[in-house]
Amino acid sequence: MKREELQRQLGINCPSPEQLIKPDWENSQDYQISVKRDDLIHPLISGNKWRKLKYALTNLVESGIKEVISFGGGYSNHLHALAFACSKLNIQLMAIVRGDYSNSLTPMLNDLRIWGVKTNFVDRKTYAKRNNPDYLAGLNKSHPKAAIIPEGGSQQLAISGVAELILELQDSYDFILTPVGSGGTLAGLITAENDAKLIGIAALKGEGYLEQLVSELLPSDCSNSNWEINHDFHFGGYAKRTEALVDFCEQTSQQLKIEIEPVYSGKLFYAAKSLIAKRAFPCGSRILLIHTGGLQGNRAHNIEAP
Ligand SMILES: *Cc1c(COP(=O)(O)O)cnc(C)c1O
Repeated sequence: MKREELQRQLGINCPSPEQLIKPDWENSQDYQISVKRDDLIHPLISGNKWRKLKYALTNLVESGIKEVISFGGGYSNHLHALAFACSKLNIQLMAIVRGDYSNSLTPMLNDLRIWGVKTNFVDRKTYAKRNNPDYLAGLNKSHPKAAIIPEGGSQQLAISGVAELILELQDSYDFILTPVGSGGTLAGLITAENDAKLIGIAALKGEGYLEQLVSELLPSDCSNSNWEINHDFHFGGYAKRTEALVDFCEQTSQQLKIEIEPVYSGKLFYAAKSLIAKRAFPCGSRILLIHTGGLQGNRAHNIEAP
């Protein structure tokens, strides 16, 4: 199956638009700031999750695999995107979910239920084994026909899909900023070997750990070392937020007419605003923000895993 066919079948809009923005941020008049609108790729197969899953899904369809196992939390954009794609492609997804939400489904998990996903709620200790070879061998044994896709869809197969984002760019940039969760997106952008400096904005507490995740995903022949991860804007951890961040997201969404949320894109835009205010970039720099999508995760974010 050709990739274009798969894109058509799923209703994917690629390439995504590249949009110049004029925010009212301090010092922003001295920079050229654009946004790569991956949030517009698809309403459900959101942003970077499409790029990361593209080749994995193509392989599944080509090899006739009808069962997939993957992992995520109760708000996972990855599980949401994968579940919708699987339902369209008649593939049975089993989602291994961190925490027991069986009596209080999140909006994301409710969508999974509607799309026919089998959900397996596991405790944190079991979930921590999600990349453990023995655990995965056990899953393989109990589900011999299933393909396993890691958390966040971040795997070697995801890298070339993400690198295509860089090939789509119409303009050149000095700095490209992207949020970082499990590292696949940043790793993919790095392998495209663009001249821009890549700056990952950590969406969770993970100094050292995130750099390691990204490095492990890079192919051995990748020579691009022009990247770093900034750890100043995680706001206390994954999905943690402050009132200031939430207010910023609302104001920015209104002013720019681009919806952002506090888990990923809000932290990215907030970081851009702060770095520009303190002139962390040379005057006149061309800066690109990657809007990785994920707006579904913003629904009712107050339900904790029991
Ligand atoms: C998953 C996700 C990320 C993180 O991407 P990684 O490749 O896991 O680093 C960023 N933004 C959004 C909206 C996401 O859903």
